[in-house]
Amino acid sequence: MSIKSAFEQKSKKTAPDALSEALTTLEKSAAGRESLGYLDKLGYSVGYCPELAEICGPGAMGVCMSDRKMIAISPNAKAEDLPSIIVHEAQHAVQFTFFPEGLQVENTQIGDMFKFRRAMEADACAHQAAYAYETGTKMPLGYDGILTAYRAAMEKGDKKSAMASAFKEWYKNPDKQDFYDSYYADATCAVAKDLAKKGEKGFFTHKKSDKEWASMFLFEDKPYIEPEFLSSDQAFCLKNKNKTKLMKAMRSYSEKTGTPLDSSVMGMFDYSAAKKKSEKTLSAPARKKLADRREGR
Ligand SMILES: [Zn+2]
Repeated sequence: MSIKSAFEQKSKKTAPDALSEALTTLEKSAAGRESLGYLDKLGYSVGYCPELAEICGPGAMGVCMSDRKMIAISPNAKAEDLPSIIVHEAQHAVQFTFFPEGLQVENTQIGDMFKFRRAMEADACAHQAAYAYETGTKMPLGYDGILTAYRAAMEKGDKKSAMASAFKEWYKNPDKQDFYDSYYADATCAVAKDLAKKGEKGFFTHKKSDKEWASMFLFEDKPYIEPEFLSSDQAFCLKNKNKTKLMKAMRSYSEKTGTPLDSSVMGMFDYSAAKKKSEKTLSAPARKKLADRREGR
């Protein structure tokens, strides 16, 4: 049964027409069909989730619940954004296939974990950009810069280089990156506290290479980003407030469980210096836009 027909059967009672229409829209483009194909193959359903804001924060429009094999959509999402949101979340479903036991990145040292957490967003947004480019639609959630980068690269090269360009562009949006970083820093501190309380040893110890992470982000079923990018100052940096918070949590976890201290966050580049450098590479109007946004204009 295809995801669409499964969804239609399920949704007869609740009749969320906008979602059903979004699935029909997705079937009309190659990028949309690819996302639906993945969801189909992986056995996912798509549905509204009224508690989404509570689970993922007020701005969240969708989430991939790999344990329930469900793409949960916020009832607040605009109908016109639904296809793009589904493309984004479908890509998370693909990423999670690399974690058959569930996404347990807390096995991994925190520095490495941040590489994955950010790259998973950059990858999902790059796929959204490919969809928007093909269908002539917009990127929701203020990610226009990623589509602009994709389009510029398409004018010079091929889809793979456009994907890589869009992927890297994600890291040039300090506000968004800070939002995710702070979310994951807090979540990791809470997990560490909980693990210490239960006396669970040995977490935050494994290392993963850039090559291993990069192999989880796919375009046409093949990796498309250079592994080295994940260790660059642009990608591998963290604000001091998050470094401090995480080191405190790691010290406490290590002391309580006897697990060797994970100080990998201290090896991350300075966030402000890296972001300043990336602003220099932005065009003058983009720089102005960023400055305006920071001042709340
Ligand atoms: Zn996402």
